Amino acid sequence: MNYTIPQRIEQMTPYEPITGEYELRLDANESYRSLSEDQLSRIVEGLRTLSYNRYPDPYAVKLCRAFGDLYGIDPKFVTAGNGSDELIALLCGTFFTDRDTVAVFSQDFSMYRVYCETYGVACKVIPKREDLTIDVDAALEFIQREKITALIFSNPCNPTSIGLKAEEVRRLVSQTDALVILDEAYMDFWDQSLLSEVERYENLIILKTCSKAIGLAGIRLGFLIANEKITKLVRAVKSPYNVNLMTQLYGEAVLSDREGVRSAAKELIQSKWDLEEKIRSLAREFPEEIPMVYPSDTNFVFLRAKHGKEIFESLLTESIAIRYMGDYLRISTGSKEENQRLYQALSKILSQLSQKGGEQK
Ligand SMILES: *Cc1c(COP(=O)(O)O)cnc(C)c1O
Repeated sequence: MNYTIPQRIEQMTPYEPITGEYELRLDANESYRSLSEDQLSRIVEGLRTLSYNRYPDPYAVKLCRAFGDLYGIDPKFVTAGNGSDELIALLCGTFFTDRDTVAVFSQDFSMYRVYCETYGVACKVIPKREDLTIDVDAALEFIQREKITALIFSNPCNPTSIGLKAEEVRRLVSQTDALVILDEAYMDFWDQSLLSEVERYENLIILKTCSKAIGLAGIRLGFLIANEKITKLVRAVKSPYNVNLMTQLYGEAVLSDREGVRSAAKELIQSKWDLEEKIRSLAREFPEEIPMVYPSDTNFVFLRAKHGKEIFESLLTESIAIRYMGDYLRISTGSKEENQRLYQALSKILSQLSQKGGEQK
């Protein structure tokens, strides 16, 4: 046989989501809100009129217009994707050669590295500061020294929940020739977006998703926003019918409901404050167990926990799923009632853990 599996993918294993049914899903940063009755009835109406036997609009024109209207940008800078995951994969698979080196921060969204590895793109890691913030000067210096040709990062960051101010991002983008792929998946929860100025830069691509604040993780919809030159290339390399008919309809219906989108984001931010305050009060009560709660600019809270694994597993037995990441835990906000249930479970677990710790001394 002439064919061998490429070495770089031979050892790869399929993505393993959390399995089992849990009453509280606070592990994936999704919105706890689903569609409103009003949005749903408009969608159901629309579903009757679609031409299922025809291919969808390859450029999702109406959908991109709704996105542009919502965020105040010209749709000629907007390309839709089958989740922003597809767009990240597309960029990693087509925008780089074997002379390029991509940089990512540690810690950041793990899929950036996964896709670089999948497509055999060289990837280097820029460390963050001790407090998990980004040092722009150190990053610029790293980019220069390591001959980095592209940088990809999330702002605000998943998993740290910390945002980098627009002024700092602007400095980063304008002081390098490297391509900057700025993933604003959580920017609906903060106010430091570069979206409105994207066409001013030759080297900036912004990614957005409908999976978080917009509450449409299930339909798979993301957007890529860049100047006309980059947009033309992205449209040339994407698969023609990457966003299906139903996703275009759902997306258009929800994104054009501006008031609905804004009030949903507001409510999620309120719930996040509520969750953050609850976690901070537990950190004050159990400072050894929770030595650090990071300031959140997102819809989730990131914390350092001494017994992260025990906490994660105990919560699962209470039918509550959160994200366990070594020394850290990441907890997405639920509704106020859900946050209260998490708080009570967590409070019980922490007092048990700290009693045990006390006995051992
Ligand atoms: C959730 C998330 C995404 C994925 O978005 P999809 O549109 O659901 O593929 C992208 N980037 C970051 C940083 C995320 O947290």
